[in-house]
Amino acid sequence: MELRKDPITRSWVICGDEPEPAASAASFCPFCPESGLPLQIVATSPTVNGSPWSARAVVHPHPLYGIDGEPGRSGNGLYDTMRPVGAHEVLVENARHDRHLWNADDREIEEYLALCGQRIQDLKGDTRFKYISVFKNYGSMSGQEFDHPTSEIVATTFVPRRVLYELRAAREHYRIKERCVFCDILQQEQEQKLRMVEVRGEYMASCPYAPRVPYETWIAPRNHEAYFERTALRSGAMRDFAALLRRTLFRIRTIADGFHMVLHTSPNTVHRSETMGFWKTIEDDYHWHLEILPILGAKAKSYTFKEVYYSPVSSETAAAILRERPTE
Ligand SMILES: [Zn+2]
Ligand SMILES: [Zn+2]
Ligand SMILES: [Zn+2]
Repeated sequence: MELRKDPITRSWVICGDEPEPAASAASFCPFCPESGLPLQIVATSPTVNGSPWSARAVVHPHPLYGIDGEPGRSGNGLYDTMRPVGAHEVLVENARHDRHLWNADDREIEEYLALCGQRIQDLKGDTRFKYISVFKNYGSMSGQEFDHPTSEIVATTFVPRRVLYELRAAREHYRIKERCVFCDILQQEQEQKLRMVEVRGEYMASCPYAPRVPYETWIAPRNHEAYFERTALRSGAMRDFAALLRRTLFRIRTIADGFHMVLHTSPNTVHRSETMGFWKTIEDDYHWHLEILPILGAKAKSYTFKEVYYSPVSSETAAAILRERPTE
């Protein structure tokens, strides 16, 4: 495996010829507490419900990124390449095999979110890493890897493309208007209420104005905050977010077979990126949020590769339908 930079879009991809994974005949789950498999445990959250623990981070059993060494960036004519140096962990969301983010207790979800914050903060201490991604693939068409309720965390020596687009655009909006583009959007959505799904305490779930897939939903803090981990590590600050995440995923699961979920937070700003203006305004121009991209079985075609995204359901209709959906 190696990292290659697209010379046109300047985005990095991980690329290589991977042998077909041997069909694992294991009938037991490696992440259940009783599995007894020797996992490399990175962090564990205390129990809140009598289970042995509530959430934990373990090294991914087949990591795409290796923790040792330097990226050793090199060029070959037009092309740039580097070694896939990084961290790749599995975030086990719950000790119980059947407790998902849409049917667990809010306290358990809070512990999981605090663990996400803790791992992001910790991995940012490694100055080789420029970005820490947290994401989850759920459902047979999503690329889901494990049956147990899990998410993944990946620390990379580059900022992923989509985040980079957002960072550039947010900085530009701030340069012109001296306001955060996300705060501007949140304010308009709260006034218009057309695409709002639910407000809970400090957080809002809403369908973006220009969705990439039907029922795309974002959850963001209503007050400005650039760093997810800073919110997540503040005692009690995640309670409403946990409930809103649970209720939103429950709604979406009544409509979609699966989903991708990705957290967008500020990059590791110890890297004084010149092209990003040395992050001078990032505290004010970027705003963390969680993006949920549902995968609709029958309409999965709309999710496959497209030059221009097409959603056969408008954001306003999507939000109206989601608002009426059960939340537990
Ligand atoms: Zn399990
Ligand atoms: Zn903001
Ligand atoms: Zn985003």
